[in-house]
Amino acid sequence: MFRDVFFGGVLKKALDIGLIEVNVHNLRDFTEDKHRQVDDRPFGGEPGMVLKPEPLFKAVETIRRAPGTPVILLSPQGRRFDSRLAETWARSPQVIMICGRYEGVDERVNGYLATDEISVGDYVLTGGELPAMLIVDAVSRFVPRVVGNEDSVRTDSFCGGLLGHPQYTRPRDFRGMKVPEILFSGDHKKIDAWRQKMAHEKTRRLRPDLLRSDCKDSQKGGSRMKKCPAGKGKNHEYN
Ligand code: SAH
Repeated sequence: MFRDVFFGGVLKKALDIGLIEVNVHNLRDFTEDKHRQVDDRPFGGEPGMVLKPEPLFKAVETIRRAPGTPVILLSPQGRRFDSRLAETWARSPQVIMICGRYEGVDERVNGYLATDEISVGDYVLTGGELPAMLIVDAVSRFVPRVVGNEDSVRTDSFCGGLLGHPQYTRPRDFRGMKVPEILFSGDHKKIDAWRQKMAHEKTRRLRPDLLRSDCKDSQKGGSRMKKCPAGKGKNHEYN
């Protein structure tokens, strides 16, 4: 599942030349019983199965390379994943993600093993694999040289607290829908100002919550061609 997504996609080159490394571990390899059991029935008599704590603790303790490594429990109940977390984790030499299945994982994993409980949105998926892949992709874009043009990462949506500005390519006139004239002016200052204005307008219309967030530069209308603000979340202690 992971191989198909990463080795057939945009991240293939980054993986091939070692800018990033993705290791997928099978929880059953960290069991000690004959049946290699990773799940069990929940106490209290509910239906479904829950991932047991022992293999998860053993797996993390085996693969963690240094104390302070982010250990992310993927869960619909967690803090919402965003661009700031992606940038923060891109600076970490290793990030460990725990993918739940079935009814989820034993709560002690959350309380004592994971450093962060992270959700990719207010919906429930059947497992943490897709969220993990999504996070690997978003984090990798902030690793230097993974995306060819690093400036483009800095001007993408959410960097600088705004949605991205509109983009156009050929043809100049498609079925009467015309590309804004300013983009042909050759005046890069003007073009930059127009892009900022459009980004602000779109953010105000579609995501006013982003303008109310703590990104002061975006509120002042400062240039978006700057480094993304570092993560300031409550839920993680590495910066
Ligand atoms: N019983 C749980 C849901 C379990 S879903 C509850 O009520 O909250 C099974 C697994 O899928 C979870 O352990 C988690 O790893 C993953 N998962 C499902 N939805 C997710 C989401 N929105 N974000 C991140 N992980 C999710």
